[in-house]
Amino acid sequence: MRILLVGSKKAGVKYCLSCLFLLTMLAAAAAMKFLLPASGATTVQGCLPLADKTIVLDPGHGGYDPGVMANNVEEKKVVLEIALLLRDYLQASGARVVMTRETDRDLLVLPAAGPKKQQDMRNRMKIAAAAAPDLLLSIHANAITSPRWRGAQVFYKTDHEQAKMLAEAVQQQLRRVLGNTDRLSKPGDYYVLNEAECCAVLVECGFISNPEEAQLLADPAYQAKVAWAIYLGVLQHLAQPPETAQ
Ligand SMILES: [Zn+2]
Repeated sequence: MRILLVGSKKAGVKYCLSCLFLLTMLAAAAAMKFLLPASGATTVQGCLPLADKTIVLDPGHGGYDPGVMANNVEEKKVVLEIALLLRDYLQASGARVVMTRETDRDLLVLPAAGPKKQQDMRNRMKIAAAAAPDLLLSIHANAITSPRWRGAQVFYKTDHEQAKMLAEAVQQQLRRVLGNTDRLSKPGDYYVLNEAECCAVLVECGFISNPEEAQLLADPAYQAKVAWAIYLGVLQHLAQPPETAQ
């Protein structure tokens, strides 16, 4: 400002414009240094935390199979919404995400040979195997006859140390983010976990049979919280040092 007072008005304006131009160039140079890789081999994509990871997301049920239904809530719809949000979070962190379904559909190839459920599950696992993923997450919601029970819970592939660690990380984040359960992760005897060839967990996002939790699970804001918690668990697990995370 003092420059304008000592010089002519015209010269002052010119000086200010020169300064502005110089500052703009410096800012652009700083931005380029920040955005561009230090070496030609690195890319911005390569800097993302899940850049080299492939993750299969399996929203349970779909199409002919609604999953569990209670309190006017269908499992197949809730888990698809959560999985689609989780896909977006993982992709934003650089992961390659392969979904077993992205719409309300089953995995049957008609005419179905043998029981529908078996063919549907076999085809899900074919998609998973073809993706050769680092992780597989199957997303479900629970229901039992008593309306009393509630709380999200993570099950992991039996005798798989990495799956156990992933389940613990996701369960920890579900407890922290949702703030409404103290459940612990457990090994699970599920087809999708038994057949998976990689680190695999199954997330039961809550109990549709509990009226209050059913309403939460149908709420898009709560679905986003569940997806965010699962995402943080995945990030926490994969961020561990290679000797313990691989
Ligand atoms: Zn289910």
